[in-house]
Amino acid sequence: MEDYPRTILELEERFPNEDACREYLMRLRWPDGFVCPRCRAKEAWSATRGRLVCRLCRRQTSVTAGTVFQDTHKPLRLWFRAIWQITSQKTGASAIAVQQVLGLGSYLTAWTWLHKLRRAMVRPGRERLKGCVEVDETQVGTAEDDTTEEPAKVKVLVVIAAEEDGRGIGRIRMARIPEASRSALHAFVQQTIEPGSVVHTDGRPAYRGLDGLGYEHEVTVLQGQEMDAAVKLLPRVHRVASLLKRWLLGTHQGAVRPKHLDYYLDEFTFRFNRRTSRSRGKLFYRLLQQAVHVDPAPYKAIVGGKDTGQPDHNL
Ligand SMILES: [Zn+2]
Repeated sequence: MEDYPRTILELEERFPNEDACREYLMRLRWPDGFVCPRCRAKEAWSATRGRLVCRLCRRQTSVTAGTVFQDTHKPLRLWFRAIWQITSQKTGASAIAVQQVLGLGSYLTAWTWLHKLRRAMVRPGRERLKGCVEVDETQVGTAEDDTTEEPAKVKVLVVIAAEEDGRGIGRIRMARIPEASRSALHAFVQQTIEPGSVVHTDGRPAYRGLDGLGYEHEVTVLQGQEMDAAVKLLPRVHRVASLLKRWLLGTHQGAVRPKHLDYYLDEFTFRFNRRTSRSRGKLFYRLLQQAVHVDPAPYKAIVGGKDTGQPDHNL
């Protein structure tokens, strides 16, 4: 049963304290009841700070261990409000907005939380797209990686797949690729599209050979040198590309660095694929549900440095 708050008032009433938050996470993490990670026993008693103690082997398990919330020193209530803030608005929220609304002392904390949550926006083992799917690449402008200089804009190549749904768009997938090479584009298609589907591309030679991989490859080539040829040929991916660019420039003010772009692509995809969801509360529910099933990412791993294995205190 999907049980979630529908309004901010319901959120406040539903999660007035840490116990209420933990109890909710427990039901999301163990929907069929608690199972001891060591001995698989199903009987446990509750200890302080939301820990469960296995009746058989006495192992202590915390509902947040092994999830996005592992090692957090901040109240879960604050996390729940951050998740509400980013799921209740169609365009999401920037780190600075989250910091301000929640009164977080540090911008870095807000930034790291958002990145941890973006990792939870991609459901492990999610289904691939199917039916007729348009695929094309686009250049996305990002901020330069070098923080010491005036941030020059650099272009990053993103490949987008969009399902055709009548005249509209179904689900999407996207990924950053180093170059529009045959190996990168074929790998993307195989990871994101179910074999047997129709893959619709332009005439770029790198797409050749998709029929050999179990796809029906539909190529459309427009005659002449019209500037907007690609837009006419593959209208759905280009609609998605322009929405993505607008979102990066608007909500995130073009400040996304290339090495972090993947996280933003995940967030955009999460939002886009749920854009018709009737209740924003349902997005809150989905994100929390995925957050308790995604491994924690240490701050160092998120910023692109080497994981030291140390917990992130203060985050
Ligand atoms: Zn046990």
